[in-house]
Amino acid sequence: MAIEQSDSPTYQCLFCGDAITSGGLDPCALQLIAKFDHPRSEQKEQAFYCHIACLQSRASEQPDCFYITDPDFPTVGETESQP
Ligand SMILES: [Zn+2]
Repeated sequence: MAIEQSDSPTYQCLFCGDAITSGGLDPCALQLIAKFDHPRSEQKEQAFYCHIACLQSRASEQPDCFYITDPDFPTVGETESQP
């Protein structure tokens, strides 16, 4: 859940329930797409927030499968600026 405050929003981790302090890869957003195998017009979306560490600790995938944690994994801006 994102909680709007006067200056910046505070995010609550989906897994541990704690507030997420900005830093490193946190906060992370999980964009849930329901009916993913249906046409786009029939899908529903909802965002959840979490600590990257909480997601990694609860996933059946090994932590090293989260390539996004590699410091060399490109940002969206870096990817978009590729020719
Ligand atoms: Zn957490």
